[in-house]
Amino acid sequence: MVEEPRECDVAIIGAGIAGLCAALTLTQAGLNVVIVDKARGVGGRMATRRLGGAVIDHGAQFFTVRGEAFDAIVSDALQHGAVAPWCSGFARAAAADQPAAPADDGHPRYRGATGMTDLPKFLAERLGGTGTSLRTTSRVTAIAIADGRVRLGLDGGAGFVARGCVVTPPVPQALDLFAAGGLLAPAGGRIDTDTHRLLASVAYDPCFALMLVLDRPSLVPPPGGVQFESGPIGWLADNQQKGISPVPALTVHASGEFSRARFDDPPDEVMQALRVAAAPWIGDATVVEQSLQRWKFALPTVVLNVPFVAATTVPPLVCCGDAFAGPKVEGAARSGMAAGRWLAGVLNPA
Ligand SMILES: Cc1cc2nc3c(=O)[nH]c(=O)nc-3n(C[C@H](O)[C@H](O)[C@H](O)COP(=O)(O)OP(=O)(O)OC[C@H]3O[C@@H](n4cnc5c(N)ncnc54)[C@H](O)[C@@H]3O)c2cc1C
Repeated sequence: MVEEPRECDVAIIGAGIAGLCAALTLTQAGLNVVIVDKARGVGGRMATRRLGGAVIDHGAQFFTVRGEAFDAIVSDALQHGAVAPWCSGFARAAAADQPAAPADDGHPRYRGATGMTDLPKFLAERLGGTGTSLRTTSRVTAIAIADGRVRLGLDGGAGFVARGCVVTPPVPQALDLFAAGGLLAPAGGRIDTDTHRLLASVAYDPCFALMLVLDRPSLVPPPGGVQFESGPIGWLADNQQKGISPVPALTVHASGEFSRARFDDPPDEVMQALRVAAAPWIGDATVVEQSLQRWKFALPTVVLNVPFVAATTVPPLVCCGDAFAGPKVEGAARSGMAAGRWLAGVLNPA
């Protein structure tokens, strides 16, 4: 028997912060929501993993709060112990082989209580009570339109038919899904060329994240993070000082320039180069375990100055995430909420 696609009001692709914030907004409007993510868990680029005995954030490191809507979400998470303040500024250095000076600007930086995935997990729990269905380990293969509704093709599944859809993967990946569903010209052309061109202008830097578990404390100064202005490393954090790892463990983020230039190099060579650059902060410690993550679309370098883009309006198909409404965690959250409000207005007209 052929399995029928499941029907819902809104299908959301991606359980990162943008997708989860869109879902919260849409469920508050009484809509029936399904979230689909190819990963095993929620969070997307807010990513934490265990390596040996260590707990390491290897994607986003911290977040700030500037707007009221995100403040309400973070205050709720703070009250329930899902997030914690980390500090109000990190040490800065000209390069990884130069001394670092403290830089405190008084503005709070937050972390997840036990890792950066805690905030997305908290939001997923909040959604649990709303009837929202969350499907992880489910890769969307194509976004199409038929009979006035959005159809999502799913790897190894029947997929979904929805009245509207929120698309949160990095924009180049979203465009691949539109192309696979025949929505881009010349195939079907449901997405007009101006909108296509606008979305195609978004660009990202890649980022290598090297994770190092150490046998004794690192030389990273308090509060456990250093930002570098030039050289192969852009950022370095001590996850034990940060308060999430029981043992000393570093996250080393390569700079955009290094990550672009070395993106296709053998991982062992990249690890070696980053370890050499990070040596002044490792000091006498021995590296007992290491791992390298390669983020292809890490940080947007060309963002759109709009909170979201409606790729089509009938049916409503909306792109959002950190390439809209300002980059970083808060920008992605704000974009998700804005996309959710717009979609709720289209599907539930007053
Ligand atoms: C190395 C690094 C360091 C960073 N540091 C910081 C920082 O310190 N502070 C800060 O504020 N921000 C930081 N950021 C940026 C921050 O992580 C992002 O801005 C934010 O998490 C983006 O959220 P999002 O929901 O828009 O996208 P994502 O988190 O990328 O979510 C998109 C989701 O879509 C899913 N997906 C993609 N394709 C498919 C498919 N075909 N089918 C199903 N699911 C799919 C993915 O699995 C993912 O879960 C960093 C990012 C990286 C990579």
